[in-house]
Amino acid sequence: MNPVTENEIRSSFVNCSRGEARRLAVPRGLPELPWPDLDFLGWRDPGAPERAYLVAERGGAPVGVALRLGQEVRRSFTKSTLCSVCVTPHAGTGVALFTAPRVGAAGRQGNTVGAYMCADLACSLYVRGRKETELGVRFESLSVAERVARTTVNLDAFLDKILDDTLA
Ligand SMILES: [Zn+2]
Repeated sequence: MNPVTENEIRSSFVNCSRGEARRLAVPRGLPELPWPDLDFLGWRDPGAPERAYLVAERGGAPVGVALRLGQEVRRSFTKSTLCSVCVTPHAGTGVALFTAPRVGAAGRQGNTVGAYMCADLACSLYVRGRKETELGVRFESLSVAERVARTTVNLDAFLDKILDDTLA
């Protein structure tokens, strides 16, 4: 993705209050991030671990969504769990349920959507082999480009659900 500045991040949020967008913890060292290798920017708030944020490009503009860590976290010591966005398998708590308030009227009614994702939101680095999971190196027949394309499609589908303000 193209680099984004702190101001661009703060003004990109679609599903939280302006006050939260103004106060939320933006990652440090933004200019040094490996932007060409990021399909989206995702981070956890170090001061409030149940809060997480994600900024992605949609139609050439950054769109930010506020996420909450769900209560229900799969803890399996025998099976691995897949991230629903980048399809990386993790052990234990490496995958977490993130929920996002939907935009507009749906969000005001308390509607949320959830997705199981890499708990550190580092999907972009896992699919490129720049970061290893607790399970070590993964073996998959897809190329990096194919995994990146799949990640983008899955993330777009999650964002589509958040951006859908129609009442269920
Ligand atoms: Zn992931």
